[in-house]
Amino acid sequence: MTELADATRTAGPTPTGARVSLDGLVRTYGATRALNGFSLAIEPGEFVALLGPSGCGKTTALRVLAGFERLDSGRVTVDGRDVSKISAQHRDMGMVFQSYSLFPNMNALNNVAFGLRMRHQHAAQRRKKAGELLELVGLSDQAAKYPHQMSGGQQQRVALARALAIEPRVLLLDEPLSALDAKVRAELRDQIRQLQQRLAITTVFVTHDQEEALSMADRVCVMSEGRAEQTATPAALYSRPTTPFVAQFVGVSSRVPVEPVDGSVLLFGEPCRVRASDVGLPDGEVDALLRPEDVTITLDPAAKPFVTHKSFLGATTRVIVQVDGVAVRVDVRSDVAADIELGARVRLSVVSRDVLVARRAPAIPGTGE
Ligand code: ATP
Repeated sequence: MTELADATRTAGPTPTGARVSLDGLVRTYGATRALNGFSLAIEPGEFVALLGPSGCGKTTALRVLAGFERLDSGRVTVDGRDVSKISAQHRDMGMVFQSYSLFPNMNALNNVAFGLRMRHQHAAQRRKKAGELLELVGLSDQAAKYPHQMSGGQQQRVALARALAIEPRVLLLDEPLSALDAKVRAELRDQIRQLQQRLAITTVFVTHDQEEALSMADRVCVMSEGRAEQTATPAALYSRPTTPFVAQFVGVSSRVPVEPVDGSVLLFGEPCRVRASDVGLPDGEVDALLRPEDVTITLDPAAKPFVTHKSFLGATTRVIVQVDGVAVRVDVRSDVAADIELGARVRLSVVSRDVLVARRAPAIPGTGE
């Protein structure tokens, strides 16, 4: 039981969401293994984000859960019931897509009421329910508008209301914010999260935007090549990644070549222990993976490393230091960074003598390398 599900149980509304379990999902397209033994267990009322690079299988996992894709092997259960062979319309799941996908010839109210019509609800009942849902997403005054008369953010809120209208036990969101501009995106992010918590609906959210995943989800499942690399709370993923892939994909990491000797490495001249990860200490050439806050900086005119860039981030400034041809990112308090000039010679050291290492490899695209 996660902390959130626990809290919801004791302090919040009774969870209406289902318990979902994905076990050993395999889905191939020709030679491509889109899902390669993907497993994930989701608590009732939990919000889980699937995060990973393009092509890692996020959308396929969501579509398999929704019932839009068949499985080669594996099992999907909802509240313990195997739904793997049940069609999408009988799975009790609401879905919101990246493109707004509203019916262009229906106004907002009728778009929201559509699923209820399919379920043979009376017209008056449908209109009442659709009106309530539009109110829930803050669009009561837009009920008569057609999709082309609404902004992207408004259309996506209508799509959300439409998905919620059928009172699904699982809500599936496939990059619902990616077509929106930054401000609307941030607003809708908060709105979706608040609604999800209020309704305690089990939610799976697909994104390749780590900020979105870390800020919204109770737990994040980082995927790579059709499998779950690590599923954990945002804080645990960031501070205790169990694989080098996760360490590099989540947050900013610098890779610094190190020499392993008997389970230790020498980093900036200091001996460090290699942190246990499920890959252990790899053979061959290895890099230490360092967060910007894992490293400290001291001015030292006799040192070889030197400062090449500074970017002001508010309370901290990110300082880039060149060490033997490698760029190391260091976050420094901005008042301290003000005294560090470009070209200044500096000494680096590590905050913790416990470092994560990975086999030397090209950086993962999109990880700030
Ligand atoms: P993105 O973030 O780019 O949307 P994703 O993580 O959602 O990527 P998927 O869309 O699940 O990835 O695709 C996983 C792999 O399966 C990719 O290599 C993709 O090309 C392949 N794939 C997905 N759907 C099909 C299909 N209908 N036919 C053939 N290959 C497919």
